[in-house]
Amino acid sequence: MTRPLSPRLTPNARTVLRQRYLARDAKGVVTETPAALFQRVAADIASAERLYPPGTRLALAARRFYDVMASRTFLPNSPTLMNAGRPLQQLSACFVLPVDDSLESIFDAVKYQALIHQSGGGTGFSFSRLRPAADAVATTSGAASGPVSFMRVFNLSTDVIKQGGTRRGANMGILRVDHPDILEFIALKQNPMEMTNFNLSVGLTDEFMEAVRHSRRYALVNPRTKRPVKRLPAALVFNRLVEAAWQSGEPGVVFLDTINRANPTPQLGSIEATNPCGEQPLLGYESCTLGSINVARCLTRDGRAIDYDMLAAIVPLTVRFLDDVLDRTRFPLPAIDRQTKLTRKIGLGIMGFADLLIRLGIPYDTEEALKVGDQLMRAIQSQAHAASEQLATERGVFPAYQGSRLQDEGRRRRNATVTTIAPTGTISIIADCSAGIEPLYGISVTRTIMEDIRLESFHPEFLKQARARGLALETLRREMAHSESIRHLTQIPEDMRRLFVTAHDISPAHHVRMQAVFQRSSDSGVSKTINLPPTATPKDVAAAFQLAHELGCKGLTVYRSGSRAHQVLACTHVQ
Ligand code: UDP
Repeated sequence: MTRPLSPRLTPNARTVLRQRYLARDAKGVVTETPAALFQRVAADIASAERLYPPGTRLALAARRFYDVMASRTFLPNSPTLMNAGRPLQQLSACFVLPVDDSLESIFDAVKYQALIHQSGGGTGFSFSRLRPAADAVATTSGAASGPVSFMRVFNLSTDVIKQGGTRRGANMGILRVDHPDILEFIALKQNPMEMTNFNLSVGLTDEFMEAVRHSRRYALVNPRTKRPVKRLPAALVFNRLVEAAWQSGEPGVVFLDTINRANPTPQLGSIEATNPCGEQPLLGYESCTLGSINVARCLTRDGRAIDYDMLAAIVPLTVRFLDDVLDRTRFPLPAIDRQTKLTRKIGLGIMGFADLLIRLGIPYDTEEALKVGDQLMRAIQSQAHAASEQLATERGVFPAYQGSRLQDEGRRRRNATVTTIAPTGTISIIADCSAGIEPLYGISVTRTIMEDIRLESFHPEFLKQARARGLALETLRREMAHSESIRHLTQIPEDMRRLFVTAHDISPAHHVRMQAVFQRSSDSGVSKTINLPPTATPKDVAAAFQLAHELGCKGLTVYRSGSRAHQVLACTHVQ
């Protein structure tokens, strides 16, 4: 037997691991090395294979899982790295909790939210079922306070519960556009002190988008009585939404009808909410574990092309890994355990896409980059589906298969959804690659991670090329500190300026088109920030929302440079 690969990690990656991921003793002293972390995770996840005789030989599975992580080719989401093989054993990043129109349901959800945050997961909620402010309350003959006031309770509770001592709790709050309190919801985060632990998204419908297009009015409906309470011009609401998003990046949008057209298990209910960063639509009490392949590591030996043979080996292994995670997770609630195991959703995605393009010499803002993204994700999606089908023959289909859309299509899979593009805010730092499918944010960036760690770095490929061409790095470093883009720096050769294109150099429409390309081959959603230059107008935001809807995106987040005082790169949606 060969010796296990020792993980090749950058100083930044080691810092992140030491701060939040490596096991500690009771006194808080770190007790494991990064290699031991990957061994702990691999052994724990592989132990699920015992449930499925004849199964892969345990030691072999553990070894393969270890290698794929230690080589930085694949990493599961943070809770898996932190908690697998440790007392908490809560491995999922994404949860959605239902909130019904009763005090009992609302405060149950607050309690469950606390339990999930404590275990390292993020929570999403739809508040659309809550009766509007000033509506009747039968038990007290009083007036209802409405979804927005209750949302503040969830927000405050998040402040109080530090997420398992590892990261601050993150939430998504969604309100349907036809809820009577929608204007208050839209304006909420214009005040920077409000809802600081939440990302907000307006749940848009096709009917509403149609009404905007034709300058029609639409009905606001009281969810308690199901009766329309008033009609508003759709354009008025859309413009308020666009203005707010232009001002502060919030709220974002989710396209509920697009999401539900792709709901694999409509017989279990319709989908109303997503996880905090928006990429994972889920039913109430469902959870999902994400994992991402670092595609920058999947090049042929000569570095000229994507190594599809390598992907064909990695994808089934990682699908198996994520399916095993489902059996190893200790869920925070019995209802979540039940609901999650009915559909067995997993979310395999990619990171390092911008790095891959750079290695291939293709600027992100080109038609060719869209083509590469399309081919790559199609291949991953079809291999991932085949892997889930193979698992179904070994382990059975997901329990809610009967009556599902997959049954209609005759596809026997182990998992109701298989692919998702995650933000990979932290795991991309551990893997030392660009985040998710995002372009580079800057060539020399300071990242703020988990509130207090600040990491500075030059892009390694840029460094390599700059050295090879004898560029004066110290002078460049000073000049690059003033702006993320290097487009104007004439001392850098033209082809390099073109290749190292940053998020701000790319047109909003191209950002949206890239998101749409990946959405076409993802079962769940795609995490992407549509970066806008400081000079962008509300009209640009409106155009981005409309284009995203037309191209079949499941949601959209915009961010105009400089419009928010505090931001976290790579995962701008979670503050
Ligand atoms: N998430 C969270 N808190 C955070 C960051 C992320 O709860 O501070 C959850 C959230 O559901 C998000 C998901 O983890 O959508 C994936 O985020 P990301 O890929 O950035 O996480 P990573 O695994 O890189 O830490």
